[in-house]
Amino acid sequence: MGKLTVGSNPTPSAISTSKRRVIGDGMEVASDTSPLSDHELMGLAIEEARIGSEQGEVPIGAVVVVDGKVIARRHNEREQSQDPTSHAELLAVRDAAAQLGSWRLENATVVVTLEPCAMCAGLMVNARVARVVFGARSYENGACGSLYQLGSDPRLNHEFETVSDVRAAECSELLSTYFAGLR
Ligand code: ZN
Repeated sequence: MGKLTVGSNPTPSAISTSKRRVIGDGMEVASDTSPLSDHELMGLAIEEARIGSEQGEVPIGAVVVVDGKVIARRHNEREQSQDPTSHAELLAVRDAAAQLGSWRLENATVVVTLEPCAMCAGLMVNARVARVVFGARSYENGACGSLYQLGSDPRLNHEFETVSDVRAAECSELLSTYFAGLR
């Protein structure tokens, strides 16, 4: 717990999600029963981020996986809601807790395209998540290794494993393309 790992899938996780193939109009079909890798889960988070950018949001997406099942996927909604807490991973964690009927997400992995900020990393501590996997680093706001490492601070009452830089180039390109479009 609490360790920071760089790169995809250093831990063969116990995830046993059915692989889902999206066909045509977004209908999902289970194609086999092998676990979704962090790389594949990040693909879902990237899809979410894209949906967000189509809605005028900064393209950040997140999914929550528990016992091998994706139980929540959200994108940033700060512009639509004008709510400063509407970060993708925060919304996804709230959905996951509602889904489970429990604030404890001990078996959860949160996969998010951008390194969580202090608010969201603090949420991961409070929600007792097992793992956080992120794509691009946030040197301005990141609290999972860049500025702070809230996942492995023994003074806090919970630690989580952090995996960074999963499909980082794709995740950061989404953001730079979005911001270039605003100029
Ligand atoms: Zn955040």
